[in-house]
Parts: sequence; structure tokens; C-alpha cells
Amino acid sequence: MSIKDISLSGKKKEVVDKKMTLIEKLYLPAIVQGLGITIKHFFQKKVTVQYPEQQREYSPVYRGQHVLMRDDQGRERCTACGLCALACPAEAITMTAAERTKGEEHLYREEKYAAVYEINMLRCIFCGLCEDACPKEAIFLTKSKLHVKPDLEREAFIYGKDRLVISVEDAKARKYD
Ligand code: SF4
Ligand code: SF4
Repeated sequence: MSIKDISLSGKKKEVVDKKMTLIEKLYLPAIVQGLGITIKHFFQKKVTVQYPEQQREYSPVYRGQHVLMRDDQGRERCTACGLCALACPAEAITMTAAERTKGEEHLYREEKYAAVYEINMLRCIFCGLCEDACPKEAIFLTKSKLHVKPDLEREAFIYGKDRLVISVEDAKARKYD
């Protein structure tokens, strides 16, 4: 077999320099064929949506911005164990733990809590490993459906507890369950 006969794709076509017929010279078949494709697409279901008025269904495994959850009594679930930070491949999570004092039982579920909890959204790759690592079901990306908003300042992407911990009202309304 000569090298000319070898076709890796199996779609090899020999180019022939034959004279065009009158119909071919008028390009009519090609125009009709093109119109046929256009008409076919005209009646097909549209794949575009009028965002933001219209929004697509999120996938059940969609990972949005993180939320730090509260329990059904409105107390913060996070116990500042640091497992999420340890699991994070992007080293995006930092926290400072504190001991719960007497009278704070209604605020924090565990004896230890995160006094400071920060995620650098510019580092985060939304892999979800922090969610998988959490033993207290305190951090979720899959439930939030929130987007990290664009900004011009790098500092704006350091999300603290003020933006991560869900509100008591949302916890009571079980918005993220
Ligand atoms: S989603 Fe991944 S990269 Fe982002 S904070 Fe969690 S573990 Fe780190
Ligand atoms: S979010 Fe979960 S894994 Fe991370 S520190 Fe809090 S309890 Fe531990």
C-alpha cells in the first residue's frame, strides 16, 4: 500500500478538478441546502434564554458561593476544627477558633466556634472538598446557588463570616436545606 492510500480518519476524499455543471455554476443546490438548514433551526427549540430575567435550572451538583449553616435553633454549626482548611487544595480557608463562654449557648452549637472564618474567593477553585471534609455539615457550596460577585478590589473577594454565615431567618425558613 502506498502512502497516498493511507487515511487515518477514514474520511479521505480525492480532490477532482472536474468542470462544474450549469446548476452547480448557479449555486442553486447549495443555496437551497443552506435555506433548508436555516428553516430547520428556525422551528427547533431555542437553546438561548433571556438572562437574567429567565434562568436555567441549576444542576443538583452545582457549586456556588459557600454558606456556613446554622442548626434548627439558629446556632452556628461550625466548630472551627480546621478540617475544611486542611482539605482545601488552594489554601483558601483561614480561621481563628474561640471557646464558647457561658451564655453563648444560643449562638454556637459546639463548645468551640470560629471567631474568624475567611475564604479567599480568588484562590478557591470550587472543588467542594471543604464541604466533603466537614464533620458538622456546616459548610456547603452545593446548597447555596449563590454567585461570587465581580469586583475591582482584591480585598472584596475575602469573604468573612458576615457574608458566609446564613441569617437566622434563612435558617428558620430552611432556605438552604
Ligand atoms: S471549594 Fe475547594 S478550593 Fe474552594 S475553599 Fe473549598 S476546598 Fe478550598
Ligand atoms: S466548616 Fe466544618 S470542617 Fe470547617 S472548621 Fe467548621 S466544622 Fe470544621
